[in-house]
Amino acid sequence: MIKRSFLGLAKPRLQYNLVPDPIQELPIPGTVTLLLKEPQNGGGATALKVGDAVKTAQRLAASPDSAEYVISSVTGTVSAMAPYIDAYGQKYTAITIQASGQDDWDDEFKKEQTIDTALKFFEYAPGSPSFKPFADPEKSIRTIVVNGMDQDLLLTANQYAVQNEAAEIKSGVQALRKMTGVDRIVITVPDILVQQANTTGAEVKTVSATYPDGLPHMIMKEVVGQVVPGGNTPEDQGVSFISAEAAAALGAAFETGQLRVTKVVTVVGKDGKTTNVRTRIGTPLRDVLQACNVSLNDRDRLILGGAMRGAATYSVDLPIEPRTDGIVVQDEADSAQTTNYPCINCGECIRICPVKIPVNMLVRFLEARLYEDAAAMYDLECCIECGLCSYVCISRIPIFQYIMLGKYELGLIKTAEAASA
Ligand code: SF4
Ligand code: SF4
Repeated sequence: MIKRSFLGLAKPRLQYNLVPDPIQELPIPGTVTLLLKEPQNGGGATALKVGDAVKTAQRLAASPDSAEYVISSVTGTVSAMAPYIDAYGQKYTAITIQASGQDDWDDEFKKEQTIDTALKFFEYAPGSPSFKPFADPEKSIRTIVVNGMDQDLLLTANQYAVQNEAAEIKSGVQALRKMTGVDRIVITVPDILVQQANTTGAEVKTVSATYPDGLPHMIMKEVVGQVVPGGNTPEDQGVSFISAEAAAALGAAFETGQLRVTKVVTVVGKDGKTTNVRTRIGTPLRDVLQACNVSLNDRDRLILGGAMRGAATYSVDLPIEPRTDGIVVQDEADSAQTTNYPCINCGECIRICPVKIPVNMLVRFLEARLYEDAAAMYDLECCIECGLCSYVCISRIPIFQYIMLGKYELGLIKTAEAASA
């Protein structure tokens, strides 16, 4: 998170980066680590063991009929398998593969444009698309939004895709229509990418370059014309979002017959300089930082994701995931540390919140771990996760982190209640 006080100033207008940097292609790394989510009914990656040979684009699942899987981004040998738990308690098996340096492509993927193919091969595509809502009988998806906007300041993976891969997105749009049966496919872009977006075969809508207008909930309100009620998702309203990078990956796979196993990542160095790299999914952060000549000293801050919504992390051994759009490195001297100062009721967080949540009250309940009360009385579930409240907080309370943890804990409470009902 970047932090700066705007007390006494007008509401800040934070602008997205609108000129994607050229891509620096990184070589195949020595190892990749793929995080395989633990299936809901428990159990690790039982179908795989250390010493197994894997091919590039091979599907690695916990068991043959498991919905959870990863796609190997290299050819090589499984060298380690270990449990991994993320910041919110989600359990994974971390599968490390020693890469051979050359690709031997797996041929299980066939160019059949069905929802089963999407579920089986594209849930681990760059950009982390989700096709589960299309197979959910309780959801009725009528519109797909291909989002060409990036999800945080400084990041440009999606704009890069629109600018440079409009032909692949066009193929992706055709495949999406065929696989899902959804006719209305919209692509959202900033003004400067309208020309490229017009060639994709999707209905073009422009989005302002002011953060957070590119986030799905804002697009739902301003472009689709529907407000997503607290606790609901766009899918509950019949709208599914897919990133432009994911749409391009889909199109490229159906054109070439090869799944895309790379991810575009924007690296933001300590001086604010941005570099776009394309690297294999699973590449250790260390390799990416090294390639971009970004050094990391003790107490510097390493953030996965973007400056507003990203999560600080602790290890350069962690891998690039399909959803990793950015890596931000902040010098210790520039990264304002969070504090345990109390809220002084300045009201800045409420003024800047795009959904007008009484953040000052919400954070008190979250600090006290009263998650259900925070949802019932102070709109926890209405939060669209923009991070602006943290950005302006004079007391430097880690509000965004409290909110993310609160939502996660609330989800666990609801799941436990549903299971015992
Ligand atoms: S992150 Fe903060 S500012 Fe953004 S919607 Fe949530 S409460 Fe409001
Ligand atoms: S949490 Fe309190 S101190 Fe921080 S911005 Fe909101 S009102 Fe001000």
